[in-house]
Amino acid sequence: MKVYKFGGASVKNADGVRNLHKIIAGEHDLFIIVSAMGKTTNALERVFDGIRRDDRAYAQEQIDTLRSNHAGIIDDLWHKPTKLERIDALFAELETLAHNFRYKPEDAELLYDQVVAYGELISTTIISEYLNKAGTHNAWIDMRHAMCTEQRHKDAAVDMERTEKILKEELARHRENIFIGQGFIGGAPDGTTTTLGREGSDYSAAVVANILDAESMAVWKDVDGVLNADPKIFPDAVQIAELNYLDTIELAYSGAQIIHPRTIKPLQNKNIPLYVRPFGDKRKPGTVIRSMSAPIEVPILILKKNQVLMTIRSRDFSFVLEEKFATIFSLFERFRIKVNLVHNSAINLSFCVDETWHIDEAVEALRASGFDVMKSTDMELLTIRGYNTKLWDKYACGNRVFLRQSTQSTVRIVRKRY
Ligand code: ASP
Ligand code: MG
Repeated sequence: MKVYKFGGASVKNADGVRNLHKIIAGEHDLFIIVSAMGKTTNALERVFDGIRRDDRAYAQEQIDTLRSNHAGIIDDLWHKPTKLERIDALFAELETLAHNFRYKPEDAELLYDQVVAYGELISTTIISEYLNKAGTHNAWIDMRHAMCTEQRHKDAAVDMERTEKILKEELARHRENIFIGQGFIGGAPDGTTTTLGREGSDYSAAVVANILDAESMAVWKDVDGVLNADPKIFPDAVQIAELNYLDTIELAYSGAQIIHPRTIKPLQNKNIPLYVRPFGDKRKPGTVIRSMSAPIEVPILILKKNQVLMTIRSRDFSFVLEEKFATIFSLFERFRIKVNLVHNSAINLSFCVDETWHIDEAVEALRASGFDVMKSTDMELLTIRGYNTKLWDKYACGNRVFLRQSTQSTVRIVRKRY
């Protein structure tokens, strides 16, 4: 068995879907994980936002746009105006949700998952039906059933044991040997839909690869492979031919948009190689990630945007570290704040964290627990692995730099956004 994952950019239009078909031509024993088409998840986040603000008309407008975009893709694929009953049914369900859901703030994450999951349900349905029509028989797998997660919304962890049992039972029920399942989504024990966090389809694919003991997993992307930096931000970016799991985790954790950080563990545990390959050209080798690869030789630059720098001080000056650390981290856990960097001095503790919904509540709670908190927004975190003096002079100095932390090989810089 092989696992292929196609991201939203690869299947953003009918040409993308036809190209997917070309890529899988002649394959069998294949599990295909697909994301929502193009920017669908962002649009669904706006639907969610409309429901949350009780602006149902706005939610409806967003749904209308999505419906017509997908209808355009279907018509193009079928070469004539075509209605797919299952797609109509999915849109009807989404509309019912958008109009009837009674929103309570404590249900924000629950509602979010119920809404955004439609992106993947719709994309996989279209692609599965198209491939069947084109003669590539496949089975559509409902990952709300087969990908079993914990009871937590918006970034649920997978229950590997249960998923293994259910997924294998599910596959055994079909005669086909090509399967298509949704990335990013799963089901909680109470039967509600969950999601694995934005860009979580990579993780879905890795979980499937692990469970099915896949010989390899490939992520088909709109880039040639993994680069040492984002070429949109850093010119001179170069492609890396091979990476090991460890370097990849570090890169993903620092914010490199190669692959979802949780993807590597399920692969590493079973020693499954991961190929990052260009969707546009099957002949190009891309990048291979596996345990044996040598450490990378070029410097790596990773920019993580939308950061907040929080500086915390205890009012009585008594920074008894162990104790205070525990209080602070349990508050962070409660408000689901993701910490990317910690820096401590005699009286201060600084945290660079992701800008998220609950930051201000966390700041309030910290203040209520006896801390002074300073919050600087509009920050970004730049990590340079394998820095040299030229890179140091260029990025680690200057008045945008608020905080800098370095080891012999890596420097991390919290700086103000331009
Ligand atoms: N469609 C989801 C997102 O855009 C999941 C994914 O693409 O991996 O975040
Ligand atoms: Mg995506």
